[in-house]
Amino acid sequence: MRILITGGAGFIGSHLTDRLVADGHQITILDNLATGRKENLSAHLGGSSVSFIEGSILDLPLLDGLIKDTEYVFHLAAAVGVFNIVNHPLESLMTNIRGTENVLESAHKYSKPVFVTSSSEVYGKNISDSLKESDDRILGAPVTLRWSYSEAKAIDESLAYAYWVEKKLETRIVRFFNTVGPRQLGAYGMVVPRFVQFALKNEPITVYGNGEQTRCFGHVLDAVDAVVRIAFAENTIGKVINIGNDFEISINDLARKVIEQTNSKSEIVYVPYEEAYGDGFEDMERRVPNIELIKSLVGWVPKSDLSTMISDIAQFIQSK
Ligand code: UDP
Repeated sequence: MRILITGGAGFIGSHLTDRLVADGHQITILDNLATGRKENLSAHLGGSSVSFIEGSILDLPLLDGLIKDTEYVFHLAAAVGVFNIVNHPLESLMTNIRGTENVLESAHKYSKPVFVTSSSEVYGKNISDSLKESDDRILGAPVTLRWSYSEAKAIDESLAYAYWVEKKLETRIVRFFNTVGPRQLGAYGMVVPRFVQFALKNEPITVYGNGEQTRCFGHVLDAVDAVVRIAFAENTIGKVINIGNDFEISINDLARKVIEQTNSKSEIVYVPYEEAYGDGFEDMERRVPNIELIKSLVGWVPKSDLSTMISDIAQFIQSK
């Protein structure tokens, strides 16, 4: 298949590219290299399976031409990372709302199936034991900038769903829970690569808040396998589907585990949220996915455990 991946030079996008190339597809990547890196595609650049175009999803004529020429669109381009969102809220909103609008408009014009990537951030402060796709969203004030990412991704979901319901455009929507692995950068906030990076240098590990907040981390290769299964199944059209691993860990325990696993001498240092993210920041205490839907639709379950994720990230950092 001729496939377009927006954001294909990014963390998840580049792993998806690896997989789709291995499956024999012909890939075009559109990426503005805001957080993506050409280096992530080094195995493919100059080869015959991948063409790379540096550009933005906000450039409608460029995007429109690429979508016209493709058979399937994976839309992964987005402004990501909590640091990035709170420091560049306007650009993030434009990219994440207008960019997706552009993708869906062109896909509709040429009747091309679109795979839309959303986020567990849409659940906001809902701390239920097991977040199901139909669960309520609980958000803080719109001017608490952290929530602008949640707002944008929720609009993307509603738009994609409306295109399916009203126009019969083939759309599939997934919500990634915390996804980690090689190539992810700590610079935009993501906790696991940050902790591993600090641990390997025996530098202090910074835990924000009291560290009792929890997350569930999934391996990027598991996530990519989920994406491919969902993308090419018939029973997933028009659906919103969680992708994540339901093993829950506190940030304190994560810090201790990373230190132990990397034989590090790092100390744990507590940093107030305001210092890390600026005034008025709100974190979520907990975020656990329910993964019954993906299991029942495509038979996917996560395979990698947190120790594997940490060692894969450590190996990647050490290889640089
Ligand atoms: N976090 C931390 N230290 C860091 C980076 C993040 O304690 O150096 C915390 C962050 O406040 C949050 C959790 O780790 O409670 C996960 O953060 P991340 O940005 O990776 O994901 P998200 O908040 O989007 O789930």
